[in-house]
Formats: sequence, C-alpha cells, structure tokens
Amino acid sequence: MRSTRPTAVLVALIGLLLLTGCSGLSSPSGPAARTGLQAERVGAATRSTVRPVIHLAPRTAAQRAAAFRKWGVPLLRTAPRPPAMKTVRMSGGELPVISHVPTTQKVVFLTFDDGVAKDPQFVRMMTDLRLPFTMFLTDDFIKDDYGYFTPLSELGNSVENHTLTHPDLRLKTPAEQRQEICGQQDRLTAEYGTRPGLFRPPYGVFTAETRAAAQSCGGIRAVVLWRETMMIKSVVFPRGSGRHFRPGDIVLAHFRTPAQLKGEETLTQMTAILLREIARQGYTVGRLEDYV
Ligand SMILES: [Zn+2]
Repeated sequence: MRSTRPTAVLVALIGLLLLTGCSGLSSPSGPAARTGLQAERVGAATRSTVRPVIHLAPRTAAQRAAAFRKWGVPLLRTAPRPPAMKTVRMSGGELPVISHVPTTQKVVFLTFDDGVAKDPQFVRMMTDLRLPFTMFLTDDFIKDDYGYFTPLSELGNSVENHTLTHPDLRLKTPAEQRQEICGQQDRLTAEYGTRPGLFRPPYGVFTAETRAAAQSCGGIRAVVLWRETMMIKSVVFPRGSGRHFRPGDIVLAHFRTPAQLKGEETLTQMTAILLREIARQGYTVGRLEDYV
C-alpha cells in the first residue's frame, strides 16, 4: 500500500514553534505515508535493546561520501567508539536528568521530537546517511501513522517516550503524570517492540513527581533535556556558549511540517543545515543510547 500525504493537510496545520521545544499541534489526520523500506520490515517481536534490523549492505568510503554529497552535507567522521560502560547511570536512586553526556569526544547527539511531520524524504535521507538519532514521540502526533517511524526505528534509531498527549506536566496530578508517561511506555512498546529507555517531558518542564512517575513505569533510565535547539535555518545555542557545541551536547530538533517550517525549508533541508553546522565545528554524531 502506498499513498502520499496531501501537503495541503499539513500546510493547514499552522504550528507555533517554540524554543522550549514543542509544537503544541494536535495530531494531523490523513492517509498514512509509506516508505519502500517497510517491505524489508522484520516482525515486531519484543527486543530488549535497539538493534538495526534493516540489513544495509556494507559500502565503501567513496559510496559513503557520495551519500553525504547527495544530501548536501559535508562528510562527517564515523562516530567514535562509545564507552564500554555507559557514562550516565542512576545515582542516589533517582533518574538522572541530562542535557549533555559527559565525554571528551567531539560528538553530539541528535534528537527529533513530537512526530508531527512524516516526510518520506527524511527516511531516505537518514537511510543514506546512516547517522544515529533518537526520536521522542507523542502518541497524539503519531497515532495517525505509527508505521512511518518503523523503518527509522529499524535502522537502529530508538523510539523514546514524550507522553501520550504532550501536556505541561507541572499542571498534572501525580496520577495523571503516571498515566501520560506509563501509558506511552506501553503504547510505544506495543507499536515498536522495544520498551523505551529514555523520557523527555514536553517543553522540557517537569516536577519531582514527574521523575518519580517516569521511574515507576519500568524501563526508563534517564530524563533527557537538551542544550541546542534547531530552528528553521539555524541552531540556537545556550547563552554563554559562544555559539559552540561542547562534547556530548544533546541537540533538539523536530519532525517539522512544511507549515511549521513556514515554507522556507523542508525537513531534510533543515536537517542538512544542522549537520553542516555540526561539521563546521569539527564534530560528528553519536548514538545517545550508547552513552545513557
Ligand atoms: Zn514536544
């Protein structure tokens, strides 16, 4: 089954993009966008850790370089070997809250949030580039087409927890917070066959009860915030950073629709701009789940 999402549906959904990191859009409706990769899909047996299940053919350095050229991205170094022991772990019995990972390697971590846009070109781009990233998904934004994220997941990119409905959790009771987080743990496990290990609160805001709720759901190892934010055409750095990445920084981006990108860029163009900035500063991209 192949169908194409009508652009008009997406264009009609105007989203206000906030530096705090979330679109606030309700879920778009419409036919599912499909990709050819789904033909290679392997069944959804529960996996305890994320492993690539799409078997991409090995390729030469020249082929890898050509893939980067195709998408207008400078050739990034392959990611350094991750630490033998994860560097972020539980301390004092509480979930760690991180916006960067302790490392001296010139590596940053990409995260894509919410799941509003479902652009087949993005699947092609990330299949070609084979760069790892983490998806923090909200059920309300993805339930019209869970299948879009399956090939991205099967490339070895983790699907992680970003609540069922994307509320400001500070306004919710502890029981409501558990429902939002644990409900999404169960939902994502059922859809993608792997229990999420990371949680990101919508807008990056949370309370002590949020941490306790996330911990109570089972499987969550850390609360993940971010340092840099990818906007439409540029990376926003934290104050005092001198617009420089630091080793181990976690970068926030979104699955943005053409409307959210104000028609100025596509999701793949936005991603290319981000990767160009990472390359310009001499960094490459690592897999967050190898460190956390
Ligand atoms: Zn969000």
